Amino acid sequence: MKVETIPLIELLKEEKGSILIASHESPDADTLGSALALYLFLKKKGKRVSVGCKDKVPHFLDFLPHVEEVIKLPTQEVYDLAIVVDSSGFHRIGAEVKAIKRARIDHHIGGEFYGEWDYIDYSEPATASIVYKLLKSWDKDCIDQEIAQCLYSGLATDTGFFRYSNTTAEVFEIAKELVQLGADPYKTYVMFSERESLNKMKLISKVLETLTCYEDGLVAGVIILDRFFRETGTEYSDSEGLVNYPKSIEGVEVAFALIEKPDEGVFKVSLRSKGKVDVAKIAERLGGGGHKYASGCKIKAQDYQSALEMVLSAIKEELYSTPGLERTAKV
Ligand code: 5GP
Ligand code: MN
Repeated sequence: MKVETIPLIELLKEEKGSILIASHESPDADTLGSALALYLFLKKKGKRVSVGCKDKVPHFLDFLPHVEEVIKLPTQEVYDLAIVVDSSGFHRIGAEVKAIKRARIDHHIGGEFYGEWDYIDYSEPATASIVYKLLKSWDKDCIDQEIAQCLYSGLATDTGFFRYSNTTAEVFEIAKELVQLGADPYKTYVMFSERESLNKMKLISKVLETLTCYEDGLVAGVIILDRFFRETGTEYSDSEGLVNYPKSIEGVEVAFALIEKPDEGVFKVSLRSKGKVDVAKIAERLGGGGHKYASGCKIKAQDYQSALEMVLSAIKEELYSTPGLERTAKV
């Protein structure tokens, strides 16, 4: 396993002031697991550290060790050092963070740079694997069972439980080490996959009724209207993962979920690729970002029909300029 000199470790070792570790909004297991792992480790090192998130911790992440210690952002404090994890920049926190020094730990392509202590590696499967390397080269003995569980949760979910194309031999190597340090693979699976509510099933049923294929079956998507949450007693965080239904259809190259977010006056778009099309480019066209296989953005539109048109037109532009797919272009 390749471990380089990590300037961020020196910065953290020297930091005597207040530190904030922030996750992105609408947190997933990679951002919150990585943030909590770093927070717990720094606390053990005697640092004055907080972990923060703009949103309430969703049900599917409520089992993460010490998750009750996550503070709600924004706060009034001016931190000496703030680190944003699993995000293309501080804007992804969704709340203002005041800090003297800033750093970013991430595996997304592009995004903001804050200084030489940023630890960004696009080749990493998850932010959790980056944080693991950081903590391991600092002091492996300080990685306890709780920290390992937080990191394993991020690594497992960002690799689709070791099934996506980012699942390499090194991923299994890191997973093995995390399990040796106390992470529990079966518990992790149960926590993420066998704790759904009946209401969530009702939401899925409504969402599947919207499932539509476009472009001769190369594209498929679902629409999740705000009223679906109200009608089924669910909330926005229950939409996590639903984009995998259109993705699971044979022949689909690009899948999307369009989710109405009236509190912010936007539609959130989740995009997924089966491998040929770079969905990060589609998200970038719409002002967002992400990875080749998974990306997202928020768009402003009057209604879902116009949001859908914007999404489909951005998808088509990228789809038909993808090598191997040009000849299927409609005239
Ligand atoms: P998801 O669809 O699960 O919300 O996000 C998939 C990927 O796209 C994640 O890696 C996430 O960081 C990225 N992503 C989602 N929404 C946004 C967004 O609004 N802006 C940017 N830059 N990236 C996003
Ligand atoms: Mn991630």
